[in-house]
Amino acid sequence: MTTDSRVLDARYFMPAFGRTLKIVRGAGSRVWDDQGREYIDCVAGIAVCSTGHCHPAVVEAICNQASQLIHCSNLYYVPGQAELAERLVEITGLSKAFFSNSGAEANEGAIKLARVRTGRKKFVAFVHGFHGRTCGSLAVTHKPAIREPFEPLSPACTFTDYGDLDALAEAVDKDTAGIFIEPIQGEAGVLIPPADFLRGVRDICDDTGALMIVDEVQTGMGRTGKWLGIQHTDVTPDIVTLAKGLASGFPIGALVAREGLEFERSEHGSTFAGGPLACAAALATIDVIAEALPDVPAKGERFIKGLSRHNPRGRGLLIGMSVGDRCPEVQQACAEAGVLVNCAADGNLRLIPPLVITDEEIDTTIDVVNAALG
Ligand SMILES: *Cc1c(COP(=O)(O)O)cnc(C)c1O
Repeated sequence: MTTDSRVLDARYFMPAFGRTLKIVRGAGSRVWDDQGREYIDCVAGIAVCSTGHCHPAVVEAICNQASQLIHCSNLYYVPGQAELAERLVEITGLSKAFFSNSGAEANEGAIKLARVRTGRKKFVAFVHGFHGRTCGSLAVTHKPAIREPFEPLSPACTFTDYGDLDALAEAVDKDTAGIFIEPIQGEAGVLIPPADFLRGVRDICDDTGALMIVDEVQTGMGRTGKWLGIQHTDVTPDIVTLAKGLASGFPIGALVAREGLEFERSEHGSTFAGGPLACAAALATIDVIAEALPDVPAKGERFIKGLSRHNPRGRGLLIGMSVGDRCPEVQQACAEAGVLVNCAADGNLRLIPPLVITDEEIDTTIDVVNAALG
């Protein structure tokens, strides 16, 4: 069995991912591989499984909805869709929502919305920023290694240093439709901007009429200890995008925009987006997160304290540490000791566990990571 699926993968699946483990089951913050080995999962589907694996309330919501209606088309009112839009408007303090199937597609939607409502074409984004791998979202993603092989890409985008407001002010002009920004850069390895940077970005947007598009795909849905990463500041964005933690692993993305920014009839759409199963999973997920959220800051602090000799950075349960070239080895040593962690860009070890991780699991993780780091 085991060998078979690895052989099949090598033979039939394009080798775009480097993999070793095969995970076959999950419950709470634990997963099991095909050898029956147990792990504490501090990858969580890359910040997706925030309610833990197979949370009973999420499983029940998906199963109930699956027995009623799996799909119907956005030509009709979709069960759960308006209710989910209402929850996202409450969470973000913005005005209206629109759904997609992924984070990249949510950002595609934001690109379209910004262009169509401002009448402007260009974007500005940040060095080390990540917004997805579809052509549009890739165009506003910085990492040359993943972007350059696919150029020319549209929209035109200028990248400035994350944290440098002077460079940003220089780059934004009257043709700039929007600025794409992560409140904390996740894929880059958990890079936290200087205090007041996000306020400065808002001010530049207000001065120029560019829209502030805050990509909360990784930082959103409670990951940092508040519903949104931007909510650690007093800044109100024009558009927020969400995906990863939104439905416990059922694919969905969303964009939420302020009053006056909305798609008109036929300007945007999608066959699967915001379907009944995705909405049911998201609604159940939001209830579980609401319950877990008050404890997220203390859990994050427990990690930071326990890992302090390695200078961890983070907010809530989005935690990174610079470990350099040996990151893959450390990742491997942690897995062998029963903890899954992952290497984000530039030798940054990243921990993004379920928001429901217990203190005991955190302490075990700390011991394993400290031992692996030596
Ligand atoms: C993961 C991620 C994306 C892309 O989401 P997909 O669902 O993989 O398309 C976009 N932005 C940020 C900040 C992300 O972390």
